[in-house]
Amino acid sequence: MPVEPRGYGDSVLSAVKGLSRYHTEESLRAYLLQRSHRTDNGCLVIHGYGPRRGIHQKVAGRAWAHIAAYVVLVGGYDPALDVDQTCGAADCIEPTHLRQVSRADASRNRVQPAQCRNGHDRELDPATGRYRRVCRTCNRDAQHRWREREAAEVAQARAAYGRS
Ligand SMILES: [Zn+2]
Ligand SMILES: [Zn+2]
Repeated sequence: MPVEPRGYGDSVLSAVKGLSRYHTEESLRAYLLQRSHRTDNGCLVIHGYGPRRGIHQKVAGRAWAHIAAYVVLVGGYDPALDVDQTCGAADCIEPTHLRQVSRADASRNRVQPAQCRNGHDRELDPATGRYRRVCRTCNRDAQHRWREREAAEVAQARAAYGRS
């Protein structure tokens, strides 16, 4: 009776962490292509689990799609390095958009949205050429709300003392 292997052994697929274990390189390639679609700008955007697009996608168990794609569509994957997309789309697995970079480079190159989550235009930090992490408008609004709340509490406390 054949013993089922516990992992991928020496296969290049052993580098794909969390990959469900029934895949071959060929089946994984087909699986990735099945779950993705070509966009107008040449990206091959994959749909992983969950509704969120534009972020790294998980597929085939708990594997990162861009890592799996690098392993079976590009080849020569180095697990010591990160994979990122030259197009900036984290859910893109187009082989010509994938490259391996050091972890530091990957975070530096990560494309930042031009607006904060409340839709304000973000400010560039001239020192780094990157957007500031904290949005000035949101920050000011938050401080404003905090001061108002504090003022209300002080007023309430005064009123309470006044009554006694
Ligand atoms: Zn792309
Ligand atoms: Zn904001």
